[in-house]
Amino acid sequence: MSVNEQILLKSYPKGMPTREDFEYKTVPIPSLEEGEVLVRTIYLSVDPYMRGRMSSAKSYVAPFSLNEVIEGGIVGEVVESKSERYQAGDKVTGMLGWQRYNAVNEKLIRKVDDRIAPLSTYLSVLGLTGLTAYFGLLDIGKPKDGETVVVSGAAGAVGMVVGQIAKIKGARVVGIAGSKEKNKYLEEELGFDASINYKEVDNIRRALKEACPNGIDVYFDNVGGAISDAAISLLNDHARVPVCGAISAYNITSLQEDLGPRVQSALVKTRALMKGFIVSDYSSQFKEAAADLGKWLVEGKLTYKETITEGFENIPNAFLGLFKGQNIGKQLVKVSE
Ligand code: NAP
Repeated sequence: MSVNEQILLKSYPKGMPTREDFEYKTVPIPSLEEGEVLVRTIYLSVDPYMRGRMSSAKSYVAPFSLNEVIEGGIVGEVVESKSERYQAGDKVTGMLGWQRYNAVNEKLIRKVDDRIAPLSTYLSVLGLTGLTAYFGLLDIGKPKDGETVVVSGAAGAVGMVVGQIAKIKGARVVGIAGSKEKNKYLEEELGFDASINYKEVDNIRRALKEACPNGIDVYFDNVGGAISDAAISLLNDHARVPVCGAISAYNITSLQEDLGPRVQSALVKTRALMKGFIVSDYSSQFKEAAADLGKWLVEGKLTYKETITEGFENIPNAFLGLFKGQNIGKQLVKVSE
């Protein structure tokens, strides 16, 4: 072990990112300062929100700097330690660089226990993904027994957890996803009451109306665009719309491409609540929420799926695949054993 491999952001993508926006670099493994540990990357998370950081536009999180290592969620193993809190062999997670080895201050990571749950789950159902679903749905969506919950991006990392929590709360759940295989998974394995393949239906509004004969009480929005226009037009009185993401708009090059019906009339008529959120808003409550998610997993009320791409060199491909719908459940990259 003497060299480190890294992936840097070479350019801010225009429209859909390509492999040319990323650069591979080989550098020496860094030596440690007092209070630091060296973490060998095992699993690495690629996430749609990272597209927003590949732009100089102002947002809730700073842009990635050009020619710097990209940063994201990682679980790994401590291989060397100059910290009293950690020793070699500890498994940890944190926001670290897209590289095989990270020298990181002890304050920027936390331990995870692979005897409680597989390591990958700390980046999926028990990590920020599961927490996003939990807080968006329960704090903003507040589904009640018998209500209809619609979730877009339903077979993705956040969406599949949203639908399952809505079922736990007694709701009727309809998922929108982009392939037959995904729809089958939602209905047959996760127990969704209905699902729609938005890539195959002629008219998404008509399909949603048929799937939701009692209208929509909660629309959990992961995608924005025409799918959300249709859902918003079918809201019931006092519906709730947690706005989690808008992946359909992440690669547009002009705002003109994302014009839809204005929402004000629909919101006034239904007195619906539409509210954006960022999972980190809830960081003070993460512990309790993770305990709930863990409990539902153990009880078999919650299950999860991960699409695991093998190999450090394939990290950009796994990221790009998110915009083509290549993943079912959480997209991760396995970098080492
Ligand atoms: P994900 O759903 O696992 O992966 C992205 C999925 O989006 C793809 O598999 C694809 O599935 C779908 N998609 C891609 N392009 C689309 C388009 N043009 N129209 C409709 N669907 C499209 O990703 P995730 O991590 O769970 O994230 C889901 C959403 O939540 C994203 O918008 C993300 O930015 C957001 N998010 C927000 C927070 C927060 O704190 N607010 C935290 C995490 C994630 P199909 O095959 O169905 O098209």
